[in-house]
Amino acid sequence: MVIIVGMSLFLVSPAVAGGAELIGPPGPVAQGEVIQLLVKGVKDGDRVKGVWREQPIEFFKLGEEEYFSLLGIDMRLSPGVYPLEVQVDSPVNSLETSSTSVKVVKKDYGVQRLTLPEKMVALDPATLKRVRKEAAKFSELWYKHTPKRYWHGNFVRPVPGRLSTPFGLGRILNGEPRSPHSGVDLRAKSGEPVRAANGGRIVLVGDFYFHGTAVVIDHGWGLYSMYFHLSKATVSEGDLVGKNYVIGLAGSTGRATGPHLHWGIRLGGARVDPFALMRVTTE
Ligand SMILES: [Zn+2]
Repeated sequence: MVIIVGMSLFLVSPAVAGGAELIGPPGPVAQGEVIQLLVKGVKDGDRVKGVWREQPIEFFKLGEEEYFSLLGIDMRLSPGVYPLEVQVDSPVNSLETSSTSVKVVKKDYGVQRLTLPEKMVALDPATLKRVRKEAAKFSELWYKHTPKRYWHGNFVRPVPGRLSTPFGLGRILNGEPRSPHSGVDLRAKSGEPVRAANGGRIVLVGDFYFHGTAVVIDHGWGLYSMYFHLSKATVSEGDLVGKNYVIGLAGSTGRATGPHLHWGIRLGGARVDPFALMRVTTE
């Protein structure tokens, strides 16, 4: 069994015959990135399991004796060296465990400083209560690992418009640090169709104080995509959608200065750059 941790699916590792060996990523991995895990030499009937920061990692069969998974590095995960463990449970051979470490390095995504009249920034108690309740509703979703995988091949851009606010941008509002930008803002006209980045099940449709009209898709295996500030959602919770299916229309609902699409990705709970996910998934 050989386990390869790579930035790219096409990473070639030295072939090792027999025994468990985990080949680590070719270099340090930046905050917000997505890396690939490839396990080779898995026999029929074997089960592959991984653990990263106490979270299970799901694998799927990629080809003959090959299993694949994606691992997300949260945008604010403290730089350091983190163990990664993969087990192959075989009914014939004994349990093979292999571990390596992933070095996470800081990535400077930049900081935006904004000054706004205090009355526009401060939330009244009722709004604060609403915002906290809504945040809890979202965070409840991220750690549910749907065992079924709905996504296939590459992830696609939900709208064609160019990037207006990048992923990871730190924000300081009236001198107070606020949550960093955990998705990408893409230019979109009001009413423009917003398409599912990949196949999945709609798990959340609603109106939220900051996000406006929002849709969340569960792609399975701990991978979620979210679409904010829509003028309208055209799907309902429970719907199954295919890649490129229109899930809503772009708009400027919630806290938005103009029509655009905020597109975010959660992978195993980690906030990762949607463009990083697009780079590592291929047709
Ligand atoms: Zn945004």
